[in-house]
Amino acid sequence: MKLDELTIIKAHEGLKTKHFSATELTQAYLARIKKEDDKIHAYLTVTVETALARAKEIDEKIADGLEIGILEGVPGSIKDLILVEGVKCTAGSKILANYIAPYDATVIRKLKKAGVVILGKANCDEFAMGSSTENSAFGITRNPYDLERVPGGSSGGSAASVAADEALWSLGTDTGGSIRQPASLCGVVGLKPTYGAVSRYGAMAMGSSLDQIGPLAKNVEDCKIVFDAIKGKDARDATSVNNPTPPPLNLRGGAGGVKNLKIGAPKEYFAKGLDKGVEKLIREAIAKLVAQGARVEEISLPHSAYALACYYIIMASEVSANLARFDGIKYGVAAGEAQNLLEVYLKSRQQGLGNEVRRRIMLGTSSLSSGYYDAYYLRAQKVRTKIAEDFKKAFKQVDLIMTPVSPTTAFKLGEKIDDPVTMYLSDVYTVPVNLAGVPALSMPCGKIDKLPVGLQIIGPHFSEELIFSAAQAIESALK
Ligand code: GLN
Repeated sequence: MKLDELTIIKAHEGLKTKHFSATELTQAYLARIKKEDDKIHAYLTVTVETALARAKEIDEKIADGLEIGILEGVPGSIKDLILVEGVKCTAGSKILANYIAPYDATVIRKLKKAGVVILGKANCDEFAMGSSTENSAFGITRNPYDLERVPGGSSGGSAASVAADEALWSLGTDTGGSIRQPASLCGVVGLKPTYGAVSRYGAMAMGSSLDQIGPLAKNVEDCKIVFDAIKGKDARDATSVNNPTPPPLNLRGGAGGVKNLKIGAPKEYFAKGLDKGVEKLIREAIAKLVAQGARVEEISLPHSAYALACYYIIMASEVSANLARFDGIKYGVAAGEAQNLLEVYLKSRQQGLGNEVRRRIMLGTSSLSSGYYDAYYLRAQKVRTKIAEDFKKAFKQVDLIMTPVSPTTAFKLGEKIDDPVTMYLSDVYTVPVNLAGVPALSMPCGKIDKLPVGLQIIGPHFSEELIFSAAQAIESALK
């Protein structure tokens, strides 16, 4: 079997028709990981035994003549921020170097029920803070398209594992772009679902009002299959909901058609700072829909200009609260020598947490402290409302919004790591989406000098179906 040609659908067909067994499929992926991952380092942990044991169970089911579901026996990877029972879960942090997950995240429980084979845990920026995976305490991940370049982040291991054929699908998390930006830089499809569409139970929290778990895969259809398997209300996450049945949207061309679809191209996302080559490919992708009868118009999301500033206050504030539990007592490796409890906390955090994480905890603690709260946190929340209103208004005018995912293709390893503000700028186009809570997908739309470029398709709350249809139309037109 040729792994580079496989998709979830094809793997499923292969298993069903007994072209190959789930064990053979899993072994093929494990062999690929063994061969490639020294170079790429997409994985932090490879769960060989449990993967093969699961594959064997599926093979027995097939041998018994039972029907198998679409994901049964299909191997994938999981960002190391999401708990898989009995498996180490580090969040890319030294402070959790020995932490073994005591239970399954809801998404994992659902995927296990769907019969997937989990190959292992994917590298990520420490506690999902970063855009290049260089903030992992356990080493960098390389972009499979160019080993001297970053895979994006924070779900860089997830994106690289799919791009390097070391997994057929992956789960990532996205707080400000961490699924879409690595998907874009690694040439795969990634979805940041509507806030609340997928349960966050069992995903380590970064910014709880922004975080969502979502799928990465090789094409739009595969991405949808994984999304369908993980979505829905969960009693353990009060913010999760069942996706309301068909969103009040007008894919007026009929089933799957994009005729008469109205697309908005926000002028703020095609302005200074955007690489010309990237812009050209994005506009060409949109033109593919126009050729099928869609209309495109320039729109404005005027408050997007404040999104990064607003995000770095709100996210950091939530980070400062969420990460308080990693103190060497409740969670985390405790510092060796300490005179009293406070010293245990201080030393454990100092030794266990990396620079970027500490920077954000300090920033967040400061914006929440008395005297600063009104000037920073409260102000940022007001700006957030403005940003959300921009989207609401835009979606009265258009069905979907299309933008670049990232202003450039994958940058060089080390290029931005010493300049946090430049690094933060790689998320200008993705962060507003999390602040508004709407869904967005990143899909490949061409390459510049062999490096993939991603198109971002943003829709109103719970419009994932519409996003997938438009993405599929573009995907087939680009073939
Ligand atoms: N890169 C952004 C950050 O560093 C987004 C991270 C994320 O989505 N988890 O905060």
